[in-house]
Amino acid sequence: MYWHLILTEKCNSECKYCYEKSLKEFDNGLQEKFEFDFNIPCESKINIKKLKNFLKQDKNPVLIFYGGEPLLNISKIIKIINSLGKGVKYCMQTNGKLLDKLPKKYMNQFSKILISIDGDKERTDFNRGKATYEKVIQNIKLIGKNGFKGELVARMTISQEFPDLYQQVKNILKLNLFDSIHWQIDAGFYKNDFNKKGFSRFVEKYNQSLTKLAGFWINNIKKGNVLKIYPFLGIYDRLTQGGTGLQCGAGDKGYAITTNGIITACPIMNNIKNFYAGDLNSNLNQLKKFKIIEPCESCKYLQVCGGRCLYSNYAKLWPKQGKDLICKTIRHLIHEIQKHLPEIKNCLNKKIIKKQDFEFEKYFGPEIIP
Ligand code: SF4
Ligand code: SF4
Repeated sequence: MYWHLILTEKCNSECKYCYEKSLKEFDNGLQEKFEFDFNIPCESKINIKKLKNFLKQDKNPVLIFYGGEPLLNISKIIKIINSLGKGVKYCMQTNGKLLDKLPKKYMNQFSKILISIDGDKERTDFNRGKATYEKVIQNIKLIGKNGFKGELVARMTISQEFPDLYQQVKNILKLNLFDSIHWQIDAGFYKNDFNKKGFSRFVEKYNQSLTKLAGFWINNIKKGNVLKIYPFLGIYDRLTQGGTGLQCGAGDKGYAITTNGIITACPIMNNIKNFYAGDLNSNLNQLKKFKIIEPCESCKYLQVCGGRCLYSNYAKLWPKQGKDLICKTIRHLIHEIQKHLPEIKNCLNKKIIKKQDFEFEKYFGPEIIP
């Protein structure tokens, strides 16, 4: 199973869509909907022995170090890896600014690292702060030089002002440093950032850009190259292999472990009691499971989409017209992949590509549905 381990709530970045918005939205009406836990410590206080015993119940544990910024708590990462050893698969979701600080002996034990980057230097630095891009690129090159062989996922955030998905994905591909790409649209996670006119315009332009990107993906497939673009792979998988449930796996295939050892549906529900599923003393088979609710439950796209996000599905922070616009992007994504299925089939039949080229590990971090 997949375990996001929150090592600290601190972060060394002040990104526009996270830090800035959370400052503005301290009171976003969630207090009336959910019960919050105000006793969660800022730094992880979990007992590593307890974590080890808990994970013994899991045949294939995958531990995803998470924050805040997990590399602000390197000493805990080292202690955990020393204690848990090779029976656990390690991943990390990081802003990449401190990758050079983790000794290579530990870095090289990671199987996957998701690094926040939003496209080119200008876009990344605008969203994440001056000089972020250079530092992250420098660090990625360094860990490569030091022998890191795992998967590097570019974890993009597409903010509402910039719908140029195609161009920014291509900017990342050009770097030739990442193995795969995922993006998430910054929509539906805060209450007061919905602007009908602005977001409608965004959706129109974003969908056009996505069409272009899907075309680019297909042209590469025709040349025998299946680019690991997670939203495309995830939708393709659901359309051709079936499957149900949230594509991020939150509250079912994976959970988050808070700084005091509580098990909650996903890292964003860190201190929301309504999503608590157990703790490090719990029996793995008895953890509470969470299911998507309306309006997704009765949506005809549910099987393929999975419901996008458990948190926003319950929190319902945006009004219906905002939610409908988000779903318009999801339906468009599904239709684009559906439209190209005959061409993919043709390439498979001609053995230009193999079925295995579309396989990917699920639930370790990329949420699939942007
Ligand atoms: S398309 Fe929208 S309403 Fe339908 S399942 Fe996905 S998120 Fe839910
Ligand atoms: S999509 Fe939502 S529920 Fe899933 S991991 Fe991300 S924030 Fe959590």
